[in-house]
Amino acid sequence: MHELSLARSLIDQILALAQEHQAKKIINVTVIIGPFSGIVTDSFCFGFEALKREQKPTREAALTLETPSPEYCCLQCGKTFTGRNSQTMPSRSFSADRPCPACGSEHCTTRGGDELILKQLEME
Ligand SMILES: [Zn+2]
Repeated sequence: MHELSLARSLIDQILALAQEHQAKKIINVTVIIGPFSGIVTDSFCFGFEALKREQKPTREAALTLETPSPEYCCLQCGKTFTGRNSQTMPSRSFSADRPCPACGSEHCTTRGGDELILKQLEME
């Protein structure tokens, strides 16, 4: 399971940071999951919830997910615009979910959005 190993590496990352800051307890974790990452957010949350109990510092950590809208770049006129879909997509798609708002072209490419970023960590 892809999401489970991602959740595990996130927890490892958090634990390393907690140790570095001599924190005893993680309160909140904010993660950005890009729309083209292919990550199923439900599975990711499930994995995180299961794995956090294995470690004392993360046991009560709350997970906040941010899923930014997809961004596209028009190949015709170069305009960048935001797509409609705010959910993560099962696979990387190279066609936008709407035509370019400037010229109406449907020849677009994706802009980033395949990341999983640890944005914020609240600990004490
Ligand atoms: Zn355009």
